[in-house]
Amino acid sequence: MAEEKQIWLSSPHMSGYEREMVEEAFDTNWIAPVGPHINAFEEELAQYLKQGKVAVLSSGTAAIHLALIMLDVKSGDEVLVSSLTFSGSVNPVVYQGAVPVFVDSEKETWNMDPQLLEEAINDRIKKGKKPKAIVTVHLYGMPAKMDEITAIAKKYEIPLIEDAAESIGSEYKGQKTGSFGEISILSFNGNKIITTSGGGALVSRNEEYVKLAKKLSTQARDEAPHYQHSMIGYNYRMSNVLAGIGRGQMKVLDERVNQRRRINQFYRELLEGYSHIEFLNEPRGHYSNYWLTTILMRDEENSQKPREYLRTELQKHKIECRPLWKPMHLQPVFMDYPAYTNGTSEELFDVGLCLPSGTNMSDEDLQRISSRVKEILG
Ligand SMILES: *Cc1c(COP(=O)(O)O)cnc(C)c1O
Repeated sequence: MAEEKQIWLSSPHMSGYEREMVEEAFDTNWIAPVGPHINAFEEELAQYLKQGKVAVLSSGTAAIHLALIMLDVKSGDEVLVSSLTFSGSVNPVVYQGAVPVFVDSEKETWNMDPQLLEEAINDRIKKGKKPKAIVTVHLYGMPAKMDEITAIAKKYEIPLIEDAAESIGSEYKGQKTGSFGEISILSFNGNKIITTSGGGALVSRNEEYVKLAKKLSTQARDEAPHYQHSMIGYNYRMSNVLAGIGRGQMKVLDERVNQRRRINQFYRELLEGYSHIEFLNEPRGHYSNYWLTTILMRDEENSQKPREYLRTELQKHKIECRPLWKPMHLQPVFMDYPAYTNGTSEELFDVGLCLPSGTNMSDEDLQRISSRVKEILG
């Protein structure tokens, strides 16, 4: 029997256009973190989002870092962050010497619970410190409750950083995610819905932020014939070669969203008959790119966790699955920071599973997943 090929959770999916773009960069010798692809990629992203200006950077994490710097987050300041997220949402808070304060999820979208957010803000103020910023995430592509969250941010006059790293192409009430924040960020890491191998972007309707991001990400050079600096800079700009890859990916972004949504539908049909398996559904007005399809598996009768059983059995057949993000307030490195919890993210981590969702899976791959899952679940 032929060796089974590895099926990944979400691997890069090139369209073919990227090569032409990269070749153009080589032919014109624009290899540096300046060049025409950078400007064009920024324009294309801004057009796609329909709001704001864009600065493309070396990563989504770098974009969050610059956002915090521009919002004047400094040593000892507090920043409210969704607890159920990837560590990239939080690490830059600590780079600034600031204190992440974690907020748990609500059950409908698994994102920051607006009610708990408001409680946390009031409690922090009561304890003597008003948080400097809020970092809210659209996990696995599902938009957070943005009306509620933006209203709270406005009410307390705390700037909102929107982490749309996982949700390029998702929409909330017809508006693309990545355009809601005072500052928003995108990621083009290798596992995301579109990729530049590694990369990110900072987005804002405030052009000054975007200008400043371009400056800070290229070592904060002042305008002078010599190298003059009056601020601390970073080496965070995206290169022209990678922006070329990004432009190739933009051509297929809508198609990728449709493909991810079809994969989500495939799993819904496959798992329809299993009453202990639950999907995350789109509340009214929420349109998900379904970057990853996720399920919850609750079954009290078995001694072995059904989620772990399915995950490890699929792993044996070279089908990669992963538990949901481990909440940040449970991470050894962040455990001592304040957290406002309600049990939701802990339970999701306990029973949730991410299924292979890459758009470069073949029909054969899906067929293989289908038969293995049926075999394992019986
Ligand atoms: C991927 C990701 C990031 C970080 O993006 P990078 O480009 O990998 O630095 C931040 N937040 C979330 C929620 C992510 O999934």
